Amino acid sequence: MKKAQVTGDFLTEEAWKWKSIEDAFSEVLTLHDYQEIRLPILQDREVLQKGIGALAGSREALQAAQRTIDVCPRETDSHTLSLRPEGTISILYHTALHSQKGQVSRYYYHGPMFKKAPDGKAQEFFQLGVELLGSDSLLTENEVISLGMRILNALGFRDASLKLNSYGCEDCRRKFFADVRANLESNVRDYCKTCYEELHLNPFADTRCQDKSCRHDLKAGPQIEDYLCAKCRDNFSRIRKIQANLGHPFRVDPHLYKNFAYYNETVFDFCIPQEGREITVGGGGRYDYLSNHIAKRNLPAVGFSLDLDVIFSLMEARRLFLPLRKNFSVYISAQSPNMEMMLLQIAQELHAQGIKTVLGTDSRNTADELANAKSHNCDIMITIREENIREGKLLLHNVSREDQAYIPLNHLTESVEIARKTLKK
Ligand SMILES: [Zn+2]
Ligand SMILES: [Zn+2]
Repeated sequence: MKKAQVTGDFLTEEAWKWKSIEDAFSEVLTLHDYQEIRLPILQDREVLQKGIGALAGSREALQAAQRTIDVCPRETDSHTLSLRPEGTISILYHTALHSQKGQVSRYYYHGPMFKKAPDGKAQEFFQLGVELLGSDSLLTENEVISLGMRILNALGFRDASLKLNSYGCEDCRRKFFADVRANLESNVRDYCKTCYEELHLNPFADTRCQDKSCRHDLKAGPQIEDYLCAKCRDNFSRIRKIQANLGHPFRVDPHLYKNFAYYNETVFDFCIPQEGREITVGGGGRYDYLSNHIAKRNLPAVGFSLDLDVIFSLMEARRLFLPLRKNFSVYISAQSPNMEMMLLQIAQELHAQGIKTVLGTDSRNTADELANAKSHNCDIMITIREENIREGKLLLHNVSREDQAYIPLNHLTESVEIARKTLKK
């Protein structure tokens, strides 16, 4: 996470890079008819907690609830707000309440999310979320997975790949969960207390356990792939086949962990290789049962999120940010204070033609102003002098060629256009 905690620091040169990431994913998503949602940053704590509570009061729900950043102290205000920790819950809640039966909604959102780190410090991180709600068709999983790959490709990651797994439907999971719990209970000594409890609640949990004497995971126990019913097995093989045909490199990872147990059937991660390591930059899955817990309505859905901070750092490391194409621009300087009105009028005339200007704010000598125009990457400089104005002319400098000529004041934009053509901009 790049922005490890909330600080007042910012770098001006980062803004255009963030904008180029946003432009790239917005273009891909718009082509696929996804609508941008602007989620409120302040969210109703009660709705949020209800969504988090849909994880059946498990330890992971408790942890997630404790990690939200509340704006009003709970003891003193009954209507407490929280800074949004993620987007899925509010989009699912809103869509379950308002969408028509049979309607399919495609949404995306991006921006800062907030949560507390395990040490209690406030964290701000940037995320893109994509959700397709209202269909359990296999096509929608393939659409969403492919969309993630398209976005990574558009950002320049030609070597992005997928990890896939199936968590099965409620039927296959019931038997799997029962066997996992029985297996854990008969091997209780192999696990630390945390792992035992977390895996007991969610066999797909990534416990991040550091205890050397602990087995940490269920690699030795029952495996979900052996429990998939015929339909889930068939669906998963079709997903693999379609992704292979689309040319998306993937591998099946039976131990693809997701810290929220609400996923069912297909789950996936997006990975990028970097310096010999495989970096997970996002992921998601199908969550057909979550809306029933949150809004008491059946609304099948599939979605993913991308960790934009990780993506930003990888793009920096790979030098994937291409500088924006420089626009033609004109530096305008007035050599006496009473020419200010003229300076603003000239700028206005050029803006009307879509020409960018940089205004010299202090009256200085020509050499200083020319140096200033160069430092702003301007192509030409117009100097306004009282004695020239009286004669109806302006001085135009070609900044790179360092030559100069007078142009008629009443043919300002034509003369600037001619100068621009000689620069081929
Ligand atoms: Zn099944
Ligand atoms: Zn452990």
